[in-house]
Amino acid sequence: MKLYNSMTGKKEEFKTITQGVVNMYVCGPTVYNFFHIGNARPFMMFDVLRRYFEYKGYQVNYVQNFTDVDDKIINRAHEEHRSSEEISETYIKEYFKDADTLGIHRATHHPKVTENIEQIIDFIKVLVEKGYAYVVDSGDVYFNTHSFDGYGKLSGQSIEDLESGARVEINTDKRHPTDFALWKSKKEGEPFWPSPWGEGRPGWHIECSVMSTRYLGQTIDIHAGGHDLIFPHHENEIAQSEAYSGKTFANYWIHNGYINIDNEKMSKSKGNFFTVREILQEYDPEVIRFFMISAHYRSPVNFSRELIQAAKSGLERLYTAKYNLEFWLEKGTREAMDKEEQEALEKMMTYKTRFIEAMDDDFNTADAVGAIFELVRLINTRVGENTSKTLLKSSYDLLLELTSVLGILVKEKELLDSEIEQLIAQREAARQHKDYGRADRIRDELLEKGIRLEDTPQGVKWSHIRS
Ligand SMILES: [Zn+2]
Repeated sequence: MKLYNSMTGKKEEFKTITQGVVNMYVCGPTVYNFFHIGNARPFMMFDVLRRYFEYKGYQVNYVQNFTDVDDKIINRAHEEHRSSEEISETYIKEYFKDADTLGIHRATHHPKVTENIEQIIDFIKVLVEKGYAYVVDSGDVYFNTHSFDGYGKLSGQSIEDLESGARVEINTDKRHPTDFALWKSKKEGEPFWPSPWGEGRPGWHIECSVMSTRYLGQTIDIHAGGHDLIFPHHENEIAQSEAYSGKTFANYWIHNGYINIDNEKMSKSKGNFFTVREILQEYDPEVIRFFMISAHYRSPVNFSRELIQAAKSGLERLYTAKYNLEFWLEKGTREAMDKEEQEALEKMMTYKTRFIEAMDDDFNTADAVGAIFELVRLINTRVGENTSKTLLKSSYDLLLELTSVLGILVKEKELLDSEIEQLIAQREAARQHKDYGRADRIRDELLEKGIRLEDTPQGVKWSHIRS
């Protein structure tokens, strides 16, 4: 498999440090609000990458942090007269609700900054001792970017270029414009912890270096995040981690492209800043997921009504094929494949090869989706009333094998009300004939499809089981 490494600007053959194991870190959300559609993209795309590794038989140790100490959280807490902890706990819960709805699997670990303060302090101590960090009078601790030779290597810029572009901050005792805070001294109304440099709280960048090291080791396989994190966040993570350990921090740096809304950059001032929660009021979560994975993760995507509509139609085509296969499988009578069917199955398997080739080429989900569409086109022309059960089952399994890697086509067919009524009538008839076995089977079948039956004096009532 090849992956595009932002560090080298090339597609490289992917080799893990430990055979059969992928250690992967993805920068997580700052929990002060519902996450927005721009954040949803990396969470979802790297979820697909992880699923693909698992499909290939790797054990994936996946860490995605929660930034639960931050200015934005503190501001929101002040606005709402609540504690920072209440704000972050609320939005961690909300994160999981939205992520679950979008089919994003839980990480192996979801560490929080507040659970890693001791480790963060120890890490900073080492940086100070080694001369990479300095303490100023206020009690702030800064990383000295001039002390680390490789500073700028990820973004491909010299420290001079980065410095000339850096925002000039007033009222700091920083030695260089690119130096950044590892520890911030306590300010009124902010959460704080004791440290060797006085009471205060960690800066943003240090948490990822510490949590990545703590949960995955000093050198990991993949560090991933949005393109906007390359500078300064990931550049700073590299400086801290490599200064600390003297080792390479991550072997592959993977970044996803931007998301635009109706061809415009997303921003609060333009009023086109959407949280996932808002979008889910209007669209099916799986359509959003399918929309995202239909584009290559490195290309920019444009979020527009027309494109979402196109994704919806595409997904419906895939569902139609799935449900048709289920329908014919239930009706089918002939078991074994004939020669022509064997050839059809062979042809179908070439789309699996194409799917894998696409995913092996820098996890090109756009081409992988293309291969699934080709497969579905063939399925639609080849299967029907007279198809053998073996071919139906093989094409069904193949389709779901590929779509499960992408996390789509997960819904069961919803029964129409008339179908439910019909099954209930059949169950009643079975009971009248004292065929209780059959009656129970029908009840179980309905239960499996999310329909609960209740026998009342007025007759049988049914309802949907909503989780
Ligand atoms: Zn990070």
